Amino acid sequence: MPDHIALRSKDGKSITDGLRRLARGEMAPADTVAWVKACAKSGLCVAACPQKDVGLDAMLLVRVAKQRALNDTQQIPTKHDPTLFPRVKIFARLQLTDEELDTWL
Ligand code: SF4
Repeated sequence: MPDHIALRSKDGKSITDGLRRLARGEMAPADTVAWVKACAKSGLCVAACPQKDVGLDAMLLVRVAKQRALNDTQQIPTKHDPTLFPRVKIFARLQLTDEELDTWL
């Protein structure tokens, strides 16, 4: 991932400090946001993390940071799809009985 999102040459300390900041719900540098946004949940960081022996689960920290970037700092824009619920209703109409449709829709 560092090569994929061009982080290899960046300041690793600043990026990981940003991870801690995000986990606390604080704004983080753009490079940190790029990292949590690109996380593919491979789990490779868990074994590679030098803090694993004291109980740090790096992937869990990245996941928490991503949720904070989405919901708290809003540094990752959420996708807004106004057609989602109408599409769910159309799908439900194809799957439910008339009685279920009367009850649920
Ligand atoms: S789980 Fe860890 S190693 Fe894998 S992509 Fe996410 S941050 Fe990188």
